[in-house]
Amino acid sequence: MTASPSDPSGGTSPAVLRTAAALAEALEPVRADDRIIGLVPTMGALHEGHLSLVRRARRDCGCVVASLFVNPTQFGPNEDFERYPRDEAADLAAFGANGVEYVYAPPLEEMYPNGPEITVTVSGVTEGLCGAARPGHFDGVTTVVSRLFEQCRPDVAYFGEKDFQQLKTIEKLVEQQGYGIRIIGVPIVRERDGLALSSRNVYLGERERRIAPALYVTLFAVAGRLHEGANLEEQCDWGRRELLEAGFDKVDYFEARDAATLAPADGYRRGLRLLAAAHIGGTRLIDNLSVDNPA
Ligand code: AMP
Repeated sequence: MTASPSDPSGGTSPAVLRTAAALAEALEPVRADDRIIGLVPTMGALHEGHLSLVRRARRDCGCVVASLFVNPTQFGPNEDFERYPRDEAADLAAFGANGVEYVYAPPLEEMYPNGPEITVTVSGVTEGLCGAARPGHFDGVTTVVSRLFEQCRPDVAYFGEKDFQQLKTIEKLVEQQGYGIRIIGVPIVRERDGLALSSRNVYLGERERRIAPALYVTLFAVAGRLHEGANLEEQCDWGRRELLEAGFDKVDYFEARDAATLAPADGYRRGLRLLAAAHIGGTRLIDNLSVDNPA
């Protein structure tokens, strides 16, 4: 690999692999060197949230691989697959500037050569929350992530707490399938006003962008009131109403779950996670917060 003199960030251009065979070949010497391989799966349109995963992987691992694949099977029929933001050149530069050595960016046919033949399903943690609001979404996620794991065979893989139910689902997938991959959850990176960074934030118009931080602010307010002894069910009801009052059009859920298992909570106790999803304009936003340690 060579340093790219034209890279204004001063980073090193990552090698881009388009096939699983090319990825396996590239990683052969890395494995022979016993370097720890860290994988950061992404759909691109990178922001500081993604890059925090990459930097954590850089700290932990001897070799960082990132994947770049907008996975159609995790989008519902009326969702934003077609218009999902894509900018491969910018993503490659950002990966390079943050120490990614290999980017696996396969075309659709490489991931699904015969269409969607095999579906990997995780039950339990995928029920309710986004699982209820986006039928089939987690099947798409676990199917593509298990393929990525099999093709890359990383030692460690990094996922954001931003998609908390996804993180729990991947933990379960690895446990059930015996992949022997360590899963690291990385804290949510936010804008200064609390809005969680998301590739979908570019969809927000000016008015919507002003309303959007209410998602975090409301989660934070509920966490504080729970600490003061408020009733959990009443607070979640209040949270739903508050989001509508703030200008959201529809609330998919505002709930507390056990942070380890995602089991529904019937009262306030330690170890809970508050999770919410709401629509504004045509955009669906999700966020979540530890009740014990809201940040
Ligand atoms: P995506 O490209 O949306 O599939 O996201 C790729 C990874 O980045 C997932 O593990 C996400 O949870 C993580 N991620 C996305 N946004 C954030 C954020 N604001 N903070 C931390 N991680 C994030």
